[in-house]
Amino acid sequence: VYVLGIETSCDETAASIVKNGREIVSNVVASQIQSQQRFGGVVPEIASRHHVEQITLVIEEALKVAKMMPADLDAVAVTEGPGLVGALLIGINAAKAFAFANGLPIIGVHHIAGHIYANQLMQPMEFPLLALIVSGGHTELVVMEKHGSFKLIGETRDDAAGEAYDKVARVLGLPYPGGPQIDKLALESEEAIEFPRAWLEADSYDFSFSGLKSAVINYKHNIEQKGGSVIPSHVAAGFQQSVVDVLTAKTVRAAKEYGVKQVIAAGGVAANKGLRTSLEAIFKDAGIPFYVPPISLCTDNAAMIAAAGTAMFIEGKRGAMDMNGKPGMQLTSWSE
Ligand code: ATP
Ligand code: MG
Ligand code: FE
Repeated sequence: VYVLGIETSCDETAASIVKNGREIVSNVVASQIQSQQRFGGVVPEIASRHHVEQITLVIEEALKVAKMMPADLDAVAVTEGPGLVGALLIGINAAKAFAFANGLPIIGVHHIAGHIYANQLMQPMEFPLLALIVSGGHTELVVMEKHGSFKLIGETRDDAAGEAYDKVARVLGLPYPGGPQIDKLALESEEAIEFPRAWLEADSYDFSFSGLKSAVINYKHNIEQKGGSVIPSHVAAGFQQSVVDVLTAKTVRAAKEYGVKQVIAAGGVAANKGLRTSLEAIFKDAGIPFYVPPISLCTDNAAMIAAAGTAMFIEGKRGAMDMNGKPGMQLTSWSE
């Protein structure tokens, strides 16, 4: 089974061809990071314009690298939501046109299901499975009993982990996106400022990062009021330690409570070196298999959409030609 995946939910214009949901044949990503950097974040209108300019080229490139013709494909999978509605629509319309012109079925994929299924490109899933999703817009713990079954056991009550990284980076005067910058500074730093950890209720798998963000802002404010200036790497290290401690502790507790056979991490923040190291160590100790995709498959890409789309295709799921962008789409199980 060959599936073309298309992803345009945020600021990456991406297309990829995946074989049997597990093997990347081609994977093309056109990033807009450079132009977004000038504005310190993603401006929806600019993102949409970039997608319009790039989408046809990116799809053609994915076919060219794969040395394949549209007739060699079995389906087109596209991100249906969540994301910026204008950005989503460009991918969806390109997918519809491509599917219609080539007589292929179209499959609408939830962006977070995509992040989770990026792991299938590395090793097969084993159920029950626990997924830690940490991205620009999501921080969630999800238990999967089988393919396409998603049970949300915890989520952020305010900012997403990636959002916290980007906001704290901004406070420290670092360029967008802030995650990789803070990660780098934190690893180099020999000192870490002590910031609070948001554990919430003892039995909760929910997260909260806005208090930590405020603590960083207050710390900087207090130092500057006394005429001093903060050392960004010390702040970065303290912030990262707080985020990583909470994510690691809650993930391992959930893995034990649900007796899962496999734990996976997904989403842009799963590219974080501090988090990867911490999760690898704790699950080695716990004797539970833990996997995280290579960095290029943690951040937005279309191979993950093709991988999830293939699993949906195998389950008999098909989208309609009147598919619309769903900016607030919920991660529901495929059988629902
Ligand atoms: P979502 O997937 O929730 O819709 P998104 O697609 O915008 O949001 P991703 O592309 O999955 O998010 O991830 C981008 C986020 O990952 C940004 O917030 C970025 O700062 C963060 N990020 C990327 N690399 C790292 C890193 N090394 N450490 C921490 N955060 C990182
Ligand atoms: Mg992105
Ligand atoms: Fe994403």
